[in-house]
Amino acid sequence: MKKCLFCQIIAKKIPANIFYEDEKFIVFYDINPIAPLHLLLVPKVHIPSINDLKAKDKELIGELFLLASKIAKKQGIKSKGYRLIFNVGKEGGQAIKHLHLHLLGGKTLPWSKY
Ligand code: 5GP
Ligand code: ZN
Repeated sequence: MKKCLFCQIIAKKIPANIFYEDEKFIVFYDINPIAPLHLLLVPKVHIPSINDLKAKDKELIGELFLLASKIAKKQGIKSKGYRLIFNVGKEGGQAIKHLHLHLLGGKTLPWSKY
């Protein structure tokens, strides 16, 4: 998707601080972090949001969670705890319409009823 910001980061047309990359995923630091560790785990295939998942994406999404847990272990926050978030759609606060998983950690994260 030419106009998609994350597709452009994947294509290296826009720079990002890349933490990890393989054939299926790219992981980079959020430009506006809300926690000491704030990574975005992004499948390279353009899927707009959780709402667009198909049965064929089951394995990819499973691998995405496995990657998140491996990163947490590597960053030493596995036992301390961390948060994984998918924002979905307008009310969910999704700004970038390319599916991504936020990994937040490095402090006690606040929780509220909103
Ligand atoms: P969303 O609100 O769609 O769930 O999350 C999008 C995230 O992407 C936000 O946390 C925002 O700070 C981050 N972001 C937006 N533009 C860029 C960018 O150009 N580079 C990086 N690294 N992160 C970005
Ligand atoms: Zn995209």
